[in-house]
Amino acid sequence: MTEKFEGSFTQQEPIPEDGIEAAIAVMRHGRLHRYNVTEGELGETALLEQEFAAYTGAKYALAVASGGYAMGAALRAIGVQPGDKVLSNGFTLAPVPGAIAAVNADPVFVECTENLVIDLDDLAAKIESSGAKVLLLSHMRGHLCDMDRLMEICNSAGVTVIEDCAHTMGATWNGIHSGRHGLIGCYSCQTYKHVNSGEGGFLTTDDPEVMARAIILSGSYMLYERHSAAPPPEAFEQVRWVTPNVSGRMDNLRAAILRPQLRNLGVQVDAWNARYEIIETGLRNTPGLAVIDRDPRGVFVGSSIQFRLTQAGPGEIDDFTARCAARGVELKWFGAPVPKAFTSRYDSWRYARSQSLPRTDGVLAGLLDMRLPLTFSEADCALISKIIRQEARAIVDAAAPAG
Ligand SMILES: *Cc1c(COP(=O)(O)O)cnc(C)c1O
Repeated sequence: MTEKFEGSFTQQEPIPEDGIEAAIAVMRHGRLHRYNVTEGELGETALLEQEFAAYTGAKYALAVASGGYAMGAALRAIGVQPGDKVLSNGFTLAPVPGAIAAVNADPVFVECTENLVIDLDDLAAKIESSGAKVLLLSHMRGHLCDMDRLMEICNSAGVTVIEDCAHTMGATWNGIHSGRHGLIGCYSCQTYKHVNSGEGGFLTTDDPEVMARAIILSGSYMLYERHSAAPPPEAFEQVRWVTPNVSGRMDNLRAAILRPQLRNLGVQVDAWNARYEIIETGLRNTPGLAVIDRDPRGVFVGSSIQFRLTQAGPGEIDDFTARCAARGVELKWFGAPVPKAFTSRYDSWRYARSQSLPRTDGVLAGLLDMRLPLTFSEADCALISKIIRQEARAIVDAAAPAG
């Protein structure tokens, strides 16, 4: 009899009790809007911003409605204009090109390597050929490229870097928090990321003018003095007259839920990485299957895992995912001709100018992806990796000539 996994790949942990208590307190007093505070009070949202700035080491932090909103605000805050070229990853999630499209800019997609990071040679070439002055860099699935080299390339070409850290909240490169290499870091607090308020996000920066613009953009109604992880009032003097309000605030209810989760993030990162390691160890040395190498200078958060089937064609990969699904293991295939559930490939975003990324095509053709919620036990992870290994072997064996 073959073993079957019974867990749910979309079931996250409950909100911690202290978060539930804090949320109930907000509902009891009724002041959910972030600027609805009593004399001298710092609301949950302002406190969360202070704590997030301290956690990442950023001078300033702004809590917003989503990760996608944070990226859009970041592009606006640095003055991206309609028609401007913005470099970004050809392999990422839809909200990233969506943020570029939202400001009517023109995305220029960059290739992805076998290790699922941005291809730095292609980046350098496309900076040169496109003349783009902005890179919206996505640390897709938590894979960090050589950030030192990336920043060298971008700094020497005068390219401003915005980091999409939806999958790297809690991760570091050379000891520095993800989101702190570029001018702006953007994070998501959506249910499937590393902290969960349903929807939500952050924008961080050390630049007072950029943060002043982002705060006005988010819909501060001239109440910016109620922020505590913000630049001084002088920074808003000019900015407040010329920056539109594109409302996307966070509210005190979600902030209340997030504060205890942020305090506990280090523990969660360890729990994710323990699970990730069990699965990765189980998959290593499986014929026809390659795990993704990680640069030891990066500390990642193993909230999902990717691997490549190196010898299988499309029909075989279809078969493999179906066999895994029949045994309770849900995999996403990034090479599928028609994307399921969400889009992650540049050719799915047909509102953007048509582009060709052969290296990315080759990598994604065999790439599979699995979520790793913390509701899975370590024993669950061992079983999942055993199922994947067995089904990968079955594909290789079926393809081998008989005899
Ligand atoms: C989830 C995600 C975002 C932001 O998503 P929101 O749903 O807008 O919070 C950005 N980039 C990547 C790669 C993501 O997976």
